[in-house]
Amino acid sequence: MDATLTRRDLAKRAALLTTAFGFDLRPAAAAARELKIARTTQTHSVCPYCAVGCSVVIHTIGDRSKNVKPAVVHIEGDPESPVSRGTLCPKGASLKEFVNSDRRLTEPLYRAPGESAWRRISWDEALNKMARRIKDTRDRGFETHDAQGRLVNRLTNTVLIGGCTDTNEVNFLLSKFRFGLGILPYENQSRL
Ligand code: SF4
Repeated sequence: MDATLTRRDLAKRAALLTTAFGFDLRPAAAAARELKIARTTQTHSVCPYCAVGCSVVIHTIGDRSKNVKPAVVHIEGDPESPVSRGTLCPKGASLKEFVNSDRRLTEPLYRAPGESAWRRISWDEALNKMARRIKDTRDRGFETHDAQGRLVNRLTNTVLIGGCTDTNEVNFLLSKFRFGLGILPYENQSRL
């Protein structure tokens, strides 16, 4: 192969090869894709896998119909994204399988101290448990003054860690949550 061959050259030659055999599959592929996403609603989101933060468009069917369980039928890169310009790596391109996996956790699980098994609990119970633990931890660790008697109002026994899909808006809310509790350490994988 020509060492100077570019991806654009390769695409042109592949197109010529296809038409040389007397058929062109491109319109059929475009029509199949059109059919797949016809009548879907589109939701813009961010790939959850890494800190690159590629934007995605999630195509859902049935989410505006009565008595129909909505289903994600297609996820693709968002061409409007200044980060990824419509591209996704293989991991991001497989997002639909992640969303639809029957092994995906959709309910909170709880394992009590000393127990070996996890059990399903309701969202209310999970939120109440988290709130109780945060409050108890804060009560134990909150300092109003440092060793020199200066007013500090800080919490040093708790750390806040953000995720790679945290957008500016999520980080804004996390900051409110963090400063409301007095938490100082904060790290975030997000570079969005
Ligand atoms: S598509 Fe790939 S590179 Fe982009 S955020 Fe997802 S895992 Fe990272």
